[in-house]
Amino acid sequence: MDTAVVTGGSRGIGRAIVEALASEYRVLFLYRCRDDAAAEVVGAVTARGGQAVARRCDLTDAASVAEVLRELDAEPVTVLVNNAAVLRDGHLLLMGEDNWRVVVETALTGTYRMTRGCLRGMLERRCGRIINIGSLSGVLGQAGQTNYAAAKGGLVAFTRALAREVGRWGVTANVVIPGWIDTDLVRALPEKRRREAMAEVPLGRLGRAEEVAAVVRFLASPASSYITGAAIRVDGGIGA
Ligand code: NDP
Repeated sequence: MDTAVVTGGSRGIGRAIVEALASEYRVLFLYRCRDDAAAEVVGAVTARGGQAVARRCDLTDAASVAEVLRELDAEPVTVLVNNAAVLRDGHLLLMGEDNWRVVVETALTGTYRMTRGCLRGMLERRCGRIINIGSLSGVLGQAGQTNYAAAKGGLVAFTRALAREVGRWGVTANVVIPGWIDTDLVRALPEKRRREAMAEVPLGRLGRAEEVAAVVRFLASPASSYITGAAIRVDGGIGA
């Protein structure tokens, strides 16, 4: 069985992606610190007859990523989903370099590190699917999110450049762009902000993590073989 790697697979959208891929792949997922959440995902996948393995790894720490990549060296990694991200919102004038760094290093540098680490095997096997999780904030911009928007906008550019670079070797790279999805990340926003957000969505509701995972599963499947360099919105129409 081939391996799919998912970053930030212990909660929210990442968890839904792990569960969606576990029927076809052995899934190895990364998380930063919440061991209980990670163990719950492994238990849920195993109960359904799938294979999931969790590894603690801090994407902002090169040594921590290198340790996971050493383990992955021996595995046929066919699918890599770069999903992990954090928010540290604030107006630019008040944004210290620590809040800039952690956001960019988790989402963008983490993606660079993991993709670089998994790519050689994909190129050698002439087969690979790299799926990055962006954000509408990285396309439209969002006040208070210059750090996050820059990281997520960077992911779109990264994906497009990579798609051109690796297509000849049978490797595709695409980015999925969620709108407002009902996860811890959105639940942590002030109630007023959430209500305002929902009012802007043509479909009139928050999305579900499973609705993002379904698109990731499609991009990981043979059915998407002629799609690369694409940015696919899963946003209830808000970015249309
Ligand atoms: P959550 O906050 O629910 O989960 C984040 C996951 O990332 C957790 O598994 C967390 O692990 C992990 N993680 C955080 N920092 C690191 C790190 N340094 N190293 C390794 N793992 C880390 O996020 P969501 O499910 O809401 O979001 C998933 C993706 O979807 C993100 O890329 C986000 O930007 C994007 N997105 C989400 C939207 C939404 O509405 N929810 C909208 C648009 C985009 P732990 O819990 O152990 O810290």
